[in-house]
Amino acid sequence: MKWWGWGDEGVSFTHADKPALAPFIKRHLGLDVERETTRPVAFDDLRIPEPSVAPDLRAALEAAVGGERVSTDPLDRVLHARGKCLRDLVRHRRGDLGRLPDVVVRPREEGEVGALMRAALDADAVLIPFGGGTNISGSLEAPEAEERTVISVDMGLMDGVLDIDEESRLARVQAGALGPRLEQQLNARGWTLGHFPDSFTHSTLGGWIATRSSGMQSDKYGDVADLTRAVRVVTPAGVLTTRPVPHTSTGPSVREMVLGSEGRLGIITEATVHVHRVPDTRVILGYLFPSWSEALAAMREIAESEATPSVTRVSDQWETQFSFATRKDPSLLDRLKSRALQEYLRRRRGFDLEAMCLSFIGYEGSKEHVAAQRKLVGQIVSRHGGLSVGKSPGELYDQKKFDTPYIRDYLLDRGAPGDVSETSAPWSTLGTLYDNVTAAARKAFDDLGVRGYVMCHLSHSYHAGACLYFTFAFKPSGQRDVLEEYDVVKVAIQQTFVDTGATLSHHHAVGTEHAQWLEEDISGPGVAMLKALFDGVDPGANLNPGKIVSSGRNVAPTEAD
Ligand SMILES: Cc1cc2nc3c(=O)[nH]c(=O)nc-3n(C[C@H](O)[C@H](O)[C@H](O)COP(=O)(O)OP(=O)(O)OC[C@H]3O[C@@H](n4cnc5c(N)ncnc54)[C@H](O)[C@@H]3O)c2cc1C
Repeated sequence: MKWWGWGDEGVSFTHADKPALAPFIKRHLGLDVERETTRPVAFDDLRIPEPSVAPDLRAALEAAVGGERVSTDPLDRVLHARGKCLRDLVRHRRGDLGRLPDVVVRPREEGEVGALMRAALDADAVLIPFGGGTNISGSLEAPEAEERTVISVDMGLMDGVLDIDEESRLARVQAGALGPRLEQQLNARGWTLGHFPDSFTHSTLGGWIATRSSGMQSDKYGDVADLTRAVRVVTPAGVLTTRPVPHTSTGPSVREMVLGSEGRLGIITEATVHVHRVPDTRVILGYLFPSWSEALAAMREIAESEATPSVTRVSDQWETQFSFATRKDPSLLDRLKSRALQEYLRRRRGFDLEAMCLSFIGYEGSKEHVAAQRKLVGQIVSRHGGLSVGKSPGELYDQKKFDTPYIRDYLLDRGAPGDVSETSAPWSTLGTLYDNVTAAARKAFDDLGVRGYVMCHLSHSYHAGACLYFTFAFKPSGQRDVLEEYDVVKVAIQQTFVDTGATLSHHHAVGTEHAQWLEEDISGPGVAMLKALFDGVDPGANLNPGKIVSSGRNVAPTEAD
């Protein structure tokens, strides 16, 4: 993983093979993509403070995990300092590294995690579990003023599928398994977890659980909260275990408390998760709708129907136009087909091509099941004025989805921040929510005097509502710090979520980025309950302090105190 950006060294996003993209960005943001203005500082120019690890603590950590797996290497420390939210990237690229961890340790099994937890608590050090480092909520960074030794616990060596109970369709998996490694081990025995977040290639099972992640196919398989049947967590009081039963009435769910805990309750070492047989057939079809409101109504009706697609996703007109602008240079045949389709949509179907919305709907299972699902969904789509445009847009989307994350670095190289904010709300609120958020983002651009773009898609449909996922980018004014301007837009969007009755995040967690909206989301008593939980489990605030709610001894006393 790059220390300053997304993904593997040597892989990057380019407009060179997408002829419509540079003019699109110029038109909407006023940005000349040919000029790279803001490259990250060189690693050798970073000012990396010396680590602070007392000899006794170092010896105890080495005894816990072995000397070769205790690292104070500068690159290791920089890589483990933060996640990948926009603020993390901008500051890292500038060489503003914040409070680096002093040491990175890599346990291989649960006993070692227990031993290093005891060593850290005895020395009153801070422990921050690290999965893939992909969170975008500020869930990893140590508080700036932290004076104690900060230990990053990289779970990457604990990446095995330990057991599959084929009869119950449950797998025991170590928490440090990255998406591809996990699927590779399951697929080899004919199984899949079915959890495919866009960050799949670089994120881990433990990170998914600790942030309540959702994947592209969560409509079928469930969010990680649904997939996780049981957990094992090393806590200050010992190893917490829950049983992999399908349902239980053991009071408030301890399993649920661990879900979304962001390292504040302990280190998840293992989880028992649902697995499914790899499906015979998997198809993602593209559809076009004449308008956002008709598209939303269709998604709602699909959720209410007997159809059970694995993916339901539809982009608003702005994201649809962006998708078309990122198409690779089409062949002559493609161009002719596309022109014929445009003519058909305009003349025969009465589409306004600027307003149409592109949708992807996925189907999985036996051939017969997929055929029946396609038929059911097709009828609903046509009732809302939509039509299928076949497999190729869906196949393209499926191939490209893990490449899209590189675009943020591409924009930052050109000085423009681009980011996402996502939420969920009941079906009855989604239309208003969409209108309010896009209006708030555009007002924020106007207030700043900048040219910006905001677009949205609906994904993850449920019985009672769905997730709306907004992406925005703008060309900064140059008058203020870029993060100051970014905050104006991000805050406008997030505040509109909670003001409209939606949640602060559907699947990106709270961290520090979203903590200011927690009380509006779950109420004062809800925050007090979480605070009591974290303080009770971790009275010394040794476990990833300052995330979700400020609590423990890192909090500066307020006037009320
Ligand atoms: C480009 C991009 C695309 C993304 N797409 C999606 C998406 O589609 N869906 C989605 O849900 N999210 C997405 N995310 C967000 C991110 O990938 C998720 O939050 C993911 O779950 C984080 O996993 P990780 O292994 O990288 O965890 P990290 O970032 O390493 O850690 C996240 C939090 O979990 C804690 N943690 C990690 N491992 C453990 C453990 N074993 N025990 C206890 N606590 C632990 C950490 O301390 C931290 O608080 C995306 C992020 C990016 C940058």
